[in-house]
Amino acid sequence: MFDCSKVQSSRQTAIQPLAIEEFFNLAPGVISLGIGEPDFHTPRKAGEAGVAAITHGKTSYPPSEGIPQLRQEMSHYLRDKFGYSYAPQEICITVGGSLALDSVMRAFVEPGDEVILPTPAFSCYDPAIRMAGGTVVPVVKRAEDGFRLRPEALAAAITPQTKMLVLTSPDNPTGVTLSPADFAAIADVLRDTNVMVVTDEIYAELCYHDRHHSILEQPDMRERTLLISGFSKMYAMTGWRIGYMCAPRELLAPAAKMHSIAVMCASGIAQYAALAGLRQCSDDVERMVAEYDRRLHYVMQRLEEIGLPCVRPGGAFYVFPSIRHTGLSSAEFCARLRDEGRVAVIPGPAFGEGGEGFIRISYAYSMDTLKEAFDRIAAFCAKLREQCIAV
Ligand code: PMP
Repeated sequence: MFDCSKVQSSRQTAIQPLAIEEFFNLAPGVISLGIGEPDFHTPRKAGEAGVAAITHGKTSYPPSEGIPQLRQEMSHYLRDKFGYSYAPQEICITVGGSLALDSVMRAFVEPGDEVILPTPAFSCYDPAIRMAGGTVVPVVKRAEDGFRLRPEALAAAITPQTKMLVLTSPDNPTGVTLSPADFAAIADVLRDTNVMVVTDEIYAELCYHDRHHSILEQPDMRERTLLISGFSKMYAMTGWRIGYMCAPRELLAPAAKMHSIAVMCASGIAQYAALAGLRQCSDDVERMVAEYDRRLHYVMQRLEEIGLPCVRPGGAFYVFPSIRHTGLSSAEFCARLRDEGRVAVIPGPAFGEGGEGFIRISYAYSMDTLKEAFDRIAAFCAKLREQCIAV
């Protein structure tokens, strides 16, 4: 008899399924504020360019690092929008930011290596590091510090085995954006080490108060930094699966090799759609950003009224309020909010150490959905308070 348990890799079995998966199977009537996926349609011109690519027969394997027009356009976009200087050959188009991330880990991380992960963090980093054989070294970002990575905590976590630091700004799950002063302090810690940086800037277009900043603006950081980003969030193109990674050729080539071995290339059809997005859809992005900003104001106001303390985010489309004062664990709070309050949100520990006592709420949902969901959250919290008094 074939025994499936005997053929599974121990690295794989040690990894838990993503918490997000249960959000695709919610009971009828439960409102989900769980998923970090734009509720907007892909801008029309980008979609039409994808359709045109199909009708014009652009359906064969594209070059493994991406179609030249898109890499060229990306080079201009990154310069004009963020001041980054990447030549087209320093840009590799990937299957979402997700496969960029996985390719980078497989290219650079091996058993014995430590990867510093400021947590709570996007839940795919940890398994990608561990599947590559690396050891995750969490450095907890505390609400008291505004969920910012403290340079002293970073310095204390560095050992001779440290290979990489992962940075995410704007952040998932906290929405926090780091400032030039934060990045300068981080760069000061890194400068005399041989630690490489993976900077995940997938939410860079979704900044609300200040413009986007990055470790890449700091002197000497470009040569050790690999930038990961993509079109999913900014162009509402999650299903098209187009991301990218950028770095000096020495850093990019190993990751691009892993990416091309895994999938050959990202879909050419989707790359033509992304190209049209860059060339013709910046108005759509502006409109979406303005709408997210409006929702963030609304959500922060509702959290305050309800009495859920929350660090004010500067970007992305998440808030990460504290539920500590309810006396419930994050998992208990979320299970009861789902079953009694009919709203689904994600317990903080799904994002790693430092997440207990918090919940992640996504506001990538329509204003009507948010209004109804926050009315339900308010009623649920009022009920919890009454029960506390009754006890
Ligand atoms: N990085 C972060 C921080 C994310 O939140 C996500 C998606 N939730 C990704 C990367 C991957 O996105 P995609 O693969 O759709 O580009």
